[in-house]
Amino acid sequence: MVQTVLVVAAHSDDEALGCAGTIARHTQNGDKVHLVFLTDGVGARRASDEGARARKAASQKAADLLGATSMTQFSLPDNMIDSVPLIEVVKLIESSTENLAPNIVYTHHGGDLNIDHRLCQQAVLTAFRPFPDQTVHSIYGFEVASSTEWAFTTPNPFLPSHYVDITKTLQTKLQVLKAYEEEMRPFPHVRSEEAVVALARWRGASVGCAAAEAFTPIRTIRR
Ligand SMILES: [Zn+2]
Repeated sequence: MVQTVLVVAAHSDDEALGCAGTIARHTQNGDKVHLVFLTDGVGARRASDEGARARKAASQKAADLLGATSMTQFSLPDNMIDSVPLIEVVKLIESSTENLAPNIVYTHHGGDLNIDHRLCQQAVLTAFRPFPDQTVHSIYGFEVASSTEWAFTTPNPFLPSHYVDITKTLQTKLQVLKAYEEEMRPFPHVRSEEAVVALARWRGASVGCAAAEAFTPIRTIRR
Protein backbone atom coordinates (compact mmCIF):
# COMPACT_ATOMS: atom_id res chain seq x y z
CA MET A 1 0.00 0.00 0.00
CA VAL A 2 1.32 3.41 -0.95
CA GLN A 3 2.10 5.44 2.14
CA THR A 4 2.19 9.19 2.52
CA VAL A 5 5.30 10.13 4.44
CA LEU A 6 6.04 13.45 6.07
CA VAL A 7 9.44 14.59 7.29
CA VAL A 8 9.39 17.59 9.61
CA ALA A 9 12.80 18.97 10.52
CA ALA A 10 14.00 22.19 12.09
CA HIS A 11 16.72 22.77 9.49
CA SER A 12 17.17 21.50 5.97
CA ASP A 13 20.13 19.06 6.15
CA ASP A 14 18.67 17.42 9.29
CA GLU A 15 16.65 15.17 6.97
CA ALA A 16 19.84 14.28 5.07
CA LEU A 17 21.77 13.31 8.19
CA GLY A 18 18.80 11.73 9.95
CA CYS A 19 16.83 9.78 7.38
CA ALA A 20 17.90 10.36 3.76
CA GLY A 21 18.49 6.65 3.19
CA THR A 22 15.04 5.86 4.57
CA ILE A 23 13.39 8.61 2.48
CA ALA A 24 15.05 7.20 -0.64
CA ARG A 25 13.65 3.76 0.18
CA HIS A 26 10.17 5.21 0.56
CA THR A 27 10.27 7.05 -2.76
CA GLN A 28 11.76 4.00 -4.52
CA ASN A 29 8.79 2.01 -3.20
CA GLY A 30 6.36 4.53 -4.68
CA ASP A 31 5.49 6.28 -1.41
CA LYS A 32 4.85 10.03 -1.49
CA VAL A 33 7.32 11.94 0.67
CA HIS A 34 6.76 15.54 1.73
CA LEU A 35 9.51 17.56 3.40
CA VAL A 36 8.84 20.46 5.77
CA PHE A 37 11.63 22.60 7.24
CA LEU A 38 10.88 25.14 9.92
CA THR A 39 13.83 27.53 9.45
CA ASP A 40 15.74 28.82 6.46
CA GLY A 41 18.90 27.46 8.06
CA VAL A 42 20.64 30.81 8.04
CA GLY A 43 21.63 31.92 11.51
CA ALA A 44 21.94 35.49 12.70
CA ARG A 45 25.71 35.07 12.32
CA ARG A 46 25.48 35.06 8.53
CA ALA A 47 21.94 36.20 7.94
CA SER A 48 21.32 37.43 4.43
CA ASP A 49 18.76 36.99 1.70
CA GLU A 50 21.47 35.47 -0.42
CA GLY A 51 22.30 32.94 2.29
CA ALA A 52 18.65 31.96 2.63
CA ARG A 53 18.29 31.61 -1.14
CA ALA A 54 21.39 29.41 -1.35
CA ARG A 55 20.11 27.19 1.45
CA LYS A 56 16.72 26.87 -0.19
CA ALA A 57 18.38 25.89 -3.47
CA ALA A 58 20.37 23.24 -1.59
CA SER A 59 17.18 21.98 0.09
CA GLN A 60 15.42 21.71 -3.26
CA LYS A 61 18.37 19.91 -4.82
CA ALA A 62 18.37 17.44 -1.92
CA ALA A 63 14.59 16.97 -2.24
CA ASP A 64 14.95 16.27 -5.97
CA LEU A 65 17.72 13.74 -5.36
CA LEU A 66 15.46 12.00 -2.85
CA GLY A 67 12.47 12.01 -5.20
CA ALA A 68 10.35 13.97 -2.73
CA THR A 69 6.89 15.05 -3.85
CA SER A 70 7.10 18.44 -2.14
CA MET A 71 9.47 20.60 -0.11
CA THR A 72 8.31 23.47 2.08
CA GLN A 73 10.78 25.71 3.85
CA PHE A 74 9.62 28.21 6.44
CA SER A 75 11.79 30.97 7.85
CA LEU A 76 11.50 30.73 11.61
CA PRO A 77 14.63 32.15 13.28
CA ASP A 78 17.49 29.66 13.14
CA ASN A 79 18.56 28.37 16.56
CA MET A 80 15.90 30.61 18.08
CA ILE A 81 12.62 28.76 17.58
CA ASP A 82 12.21 29.23 21.34
CA SER A 83 11.60 32.93 20.59
CA VAL A 84 8.38 31.96 18.76
CA PRO A 85 5.25 30.84 20.66
CA LEU A 86 4.99 27.06 20.26
CA ILE A 87 1.41 27.39 19.04
CA GLU A 88 2.67 29.37 16.04
CA VAL A 89 5.08 26.56 15.18
CA VAL A 90 2.25 24.03 15.51
CA LYS A 91 0.04 26.12 13.22
CA LEU A 92 2.76 26.28 10.55
CA ILE A 93 3.02 22.49 10.56
CA GLU A 94 -0.76 22.04 10.58
CA SER A 95 -1.39 24.54 7.79
CA SER A 96 1.30 23.11 5.51
CA THR A 97 0.18 19.50 5.97
CA GLU A 98 -3.60 19.65 6.40
CA ASN A 99 -4.34 18.33 2.90
CA LEU A 100 -1.63 15.67 2.87
CA ALA A 101 -3.16 13.07 5.24
CA PRO A 102 0.25 11.61 6.13
CA ASN A 103 0.55 8.07 7.50
CA ILE A 104 4.15 8.13 8.71
CA VAL A 105 6.02 11.09 10.19
CA TYR A 106 9.77 11.34 10.76
CA THR A 107 11.01 14.10 13.01
CA HIS A 108 13.65 14.92 15.59
CA HIS A 109 14.56 12.99 18.68
CA GLY A 110 13.33 14.97 21.65
CA GLY A 111 16.58 14.83 23.63
CA ASP A 112 18.84 16.65 21.15
CA LEU A 113 21.23 19.41 22.19
CA ASN A 114 19.76 21.79 19.61
CA ILE A 115 16.71 23.58 20.99
CA ASP A 116 15.11 23.90 17.53
CA HIS A 117 15.17 20.10 17.26
CA ARG A 118 13.49 19.62 20.64
CA LEU A 119 10.79 22.18 19.91
CA CYS A 120 10.22 20.75 16.45
CA GLN A 121 9.42 17.36 17.97
CA GLN A 122 7.10 18.96 20.51
CA ALA A 123 5.27 20.87 17.77
CA VAL A 124 4.96 17.72 15.63
CA LEU A 125 3.47 15.75 18.52
CA THR A 126 0.99 18.58 19.06
CA ALA A 127 0.10 18.93 15.38
CA PHE A 128 -0.53 15.18 15.02
CA ARG A 129 -2.33 14.44 18.26
CA PRO A 130 -4.00 11.02 18.10
CA PHE A 131 -7.58 12.11 17.47
CA PRO A 132 -9.96 9.36 16.25
CA ASP A 133 -9.66 10.57 12.64
CA GLN A 134 -5.88 11.04 12.76
CA THR A 135 -4.27 9.62 9.62
CA VAL A 136 -0.77 9.39 11.16
CA HIS A 137 -0.15 5.90 12.51
CA SER A 138 3.58 6.15 13.18
CA ILE A 139 5.93 8.89 14.33
CA TYR A 140 9.65 8.15 14.46
CA GLY A 141 12.53 10.20 15.85
CA PHE A 142 15.81 10.34 13.91
CA GLU A 143 19.30 11.21 15.09
CA VAL A 144 21.23 14.19 13.76
CA ALA A 145 25.02 14.10 13.96
CA SER A 146 26.39 17.01 16.04
CA SER A 147 23.21 17.36 18.06
CA THR A 148 21.84 13.99 19.19
CA GLU A 149 25.16 12.57 20.44
CA TRP A 150 26.31 15.95 21.81
CA ALA A 151 23.45 16.19 24.35
CA PHE A 152 25.67 14.56 26.95
CA THR A 153 23.56 15.35 29.99
CA THR A 154 20.11 14.84 28.49
CA PRO A 155 17.64 12.86 30.58
CA ASN A 156 16.26 11.62 27.24
CA PRO A 157 19.11 9.81 25.48
CA PHE A 158 18.67 8.38 21.97
CA LEU A 159 17.96 4.67 22.39
CA PRO A 160 16.88 3.42 18.97
CA SER A 161 14.76 0.33 18.49
CA HIS A 162 13.56 0.84 14.91
CA TYR A 163 16.09 0.38 12.12
CA VAL A 164 15.87 0.78 8.36
CA ASP A 165 18.35 -1.06 6.14
CA ILE A 166 19.93 1.58 3.88
CA THR A 167 22.60 -0.62 2.31
CA LYS A 168 21.20 0.18 -1.16
CA THR A 169 20.50 3.86 -0.51
CA LEU A 170 23.63 4.89 1.42
CA GLN A 171 25.16 6.33 -1.76
CA THR A 172 22.05 8.46 -2.30
CA LYS A 173 22.37 9.72 1.28
CA LEU A 174 25.96 10.75 0.59
CA GLN A 175 24.93 12.52 -2.64
CA VAL A 176 22.23 14.40 -0.76
CA LEU A 177 24.78 15.47 1.86
CA LYS A 178 26.92 16.89 -0.95
CA ALA A 179 24.03 19.28 -1.70
CA TYR A 180 24.63 20.60 1.82
CA GLU A 181 28.40 20.64 1.59
CA GLU A 182 28.54 24.04 3.31
CA GLU A 183 27.29 22.32 6.45
CA MET A 184 29.78 19.45 6.19
CA ARG A 185 33.21 19.48 7.81
CA PRO A 186 36.47 17.55 7.38
CA PHE A 187 37.00 14.34 9.39
CA PRO A 188 37.21 13.85 12.37
CA HIS A 189 34.30 16.29 12.71
CA VAL A 190 31.10 14.33 13.27
CA ARG A 191 29.55 16.07 10.26
CA SER A 192 32.06 14.55 7.83
CA GLU A 193 31.36 11.94 5.18
CA GLU A 194 33.63 9.48 7.00
CA ALA A 195 31.69 9.88 10.26
CA VAL A 196 28.33 9.64 8.50
CA VAL A 197 29.39 6.40 6.83
CA ALA A 198 30.81 5.07 10.11
CA LEU A 199 27.51 5.73 11.89
CA ALA A 200 25.51 4.10 9.09
CA ARG A 201 27.83 1.06 9.24
CA TRP A 202 27.54 0.87 13.03
CA ARG A 203 23.75 1.22 13.01
CA GLY A 204 23.64 -1.46 10.34
CA ALA A 205 26.01 -3.84 12.09
CA SER A 206 23.99 -3.38 15.30
CA VAL A 207 21.14 -5.22 13.60
CA GLY A 208 22.99 -7.43 11.13
CA CYS A 209 22.98 -5.41 7.93
CA ALA A 210 25.65 -3.47 6.06
CA ALA A 211 24.20 0.02 6.68
CA ALA A 212 21.17 1.38 8.51
CA GLU A 213 19.46 4.42 9.92
CA ALA A 214 18.19 4.18 13.48
CA PHE A 215 15.02 5.65 14.96
CA THR A 216 13.10 5.86 18.17
CA PRO A 217 9.45 4.91 17.73
CA ILE A 218 7.78 7.94 19.32
CA ARG A 219 4.24 6.74 18.69
CA THR A 220 3.04 3.80 16.63
CA ILE A 221 -0.57 2.72 16.32
CA ARG A 222 -1.68 -0.42 14.49
CA ARG A 223 -5.31 -0.13 13.53
ZN1 LIG B 1 19.27 20.87 12.81
